[in-house]
Amino acid sequence: MALKAYSLARDGALHLTPHFRVREFACRDGSDPIFVEEELAALLEAIRLHFGCPVAITSGFRTAAHNASIPGASPHSQHLYGRAADFRVEGVSVAEAAAYAETLLPGKGGIGRYPPRKGRACGWVHLDTRGTKTRWTG
Ligand SMILES: [Zn+2]
Repeated sequence: MALKAYSLARDGALHLTPHFRVREFACRDGSDPIFVEEELAALLEAIRLHFGCPVAITSGFRTAAHNASIPGASPHSQHLYGRAADFRVEGVSVAEAAAYAETLLPGKGGIGRYPPRKGRACGWVHLDTRGTKTRWTG
């Protein structure tokens, strides 16, 4: 699968998969262009179909400048390469969503679990398509 470049202005409403549009992966600073790896969108679509519930992408592609403004973000974050998305599935726990993501990425990819805790009302799962297997809880 390949990394694709899109324009937020031109392609924002374009469907990458039946349930995800280009604009959902846009950098939260509103910048153009947007980079999205095809495999990442396909994984999110599989998660959407498995649970049958809306999946909200809270962070997709990030520009270097925007990434640097996020406290605790890795300077070499997979979000910089269009390979990562942070998401939550409506009505589904972080543990349950991450456990299903595990079945889609056996032996590879990054999965980070960010469960709700004090000061973090909603949790999320980080998913990326790096070639090596990496797991963590944040
Ligand atoms: Zn992330």
